[in-house]
Amino acid sequence: MKKISFVLPIYNEEQNIPELYKRLIKVTKQIVDKYKVEFVAINDGSIDKSLDELLKIHYKDERLIVVNFSRNFGQQAAITAGLDIASGDAVIIMDADLQDPPELSLDLIKKWEEGFDVVYAQRRTRKDNIFKKITAYIFYRLLDSIAEIKIPKDTGDFRLIDRRVVEALKNYKEKNRYIRGLVSLVGFKQTCILFDRQERFSGTTHYNFKKMIKLATDAVVNFSNFPIQLISKIGLVLFFLSILWLPVMMYIDLYPQNTVLSNVLEAIVLLITLIGSIILISLGIIGIYVIRIHSEVLARPIYIISSIYKKND
Ligand code: UDP
Ligand code: MG
Repeated sequence: MKKISFVLPIYNEEQNIPELYKRLIKVTKQIVDKYKVEFVAINDGSIDKSLDELLKIHYKDERLIVVNFSRNFGQQAAITAGLDIASGDAVIIMDADLQDPPELSLDLIKKWEEGFDVVYAQRRTRKDNIFKKITAYIFYRLLDSIAEIKIPKDTGDFRLIDRRVVEALKNYKEKNRYIRGLVSLVGFKQTCILFDRQERFSGTTHYNFKKMIKLATDAVVNFSNFPIQLISKIGLVLFFLSILWLPVMMYIDLYPQNTVLSNVLEAIVLLITLIGSIILISLGIIGIYVIRIHSEVLARPIYIISSIYKKND
């Protein structure tokens, strides 16, 4: 019998875990005579009672494997661990806050049965606050316009991936991970289904502004050279502009009238600050790449597991 694994990254979701489990059980009941089912919950350094909630379920239902991180490593790390540990023939990645409706898994599985290796769930609508909606809208479109590969827009990590894709993903060792991009990179037969993203069942988002920026920069830097190439393009434009500036200077040398001179001095000050700020911004962009090169060279582990609760262990 084939097995379906659910990978559930969990960070401070104590209020959501019982409901998530309830809904997952209801949904998977419809497939248990066809497939074995496994749930891999990764407790990503929660500081609430998430671990207790998970263990309560684990001791009743050993199909729930609990992976406990030594600290918070982030959702992408949690998903990576989940993919490393899940043993299913198909793996469904799903948020634990019920924004990704568990019921949709049945549609994902149906597409997989039709022969697709990746079935991602694309958001037709989303119920999030206005700030999240706007930033997400801009981010997906910006990434789409500069990424060197096609990464589906308005699509989170909610998806089903076949075992072969899971194995392919394991070959990507990068530390600053943007898993959605990696899934696009591996190829295979991919398709999407549309859904309406729900509100969080309980609590508020754990993606603060800093985490959002980190994920967005990982996406851009890992899948596009546009920012770093932009620097030399700006440099070229400025170079030609400064050549155009030469005749102006010569004109001033010929007619050194006071008013023109003071205007030109103002323009020069403006230009110096403008070019200075462009240089600093450019250094910042290069810095973003250098930080990532540095962290890849350090090759620190993506995550550290402090304990695994699994049958026979
Ligand atoms: N999450 C995680 N580690 C983190 C932040 C979030 O494992 O550091 C989990 C979280 O518990 C949830 C999923 O990742 O299951 C998505 O997080 P969240 O709902 O906060 O993000 P949003 O839906 O607002 O983008
Ligand atoms: Mg959420």
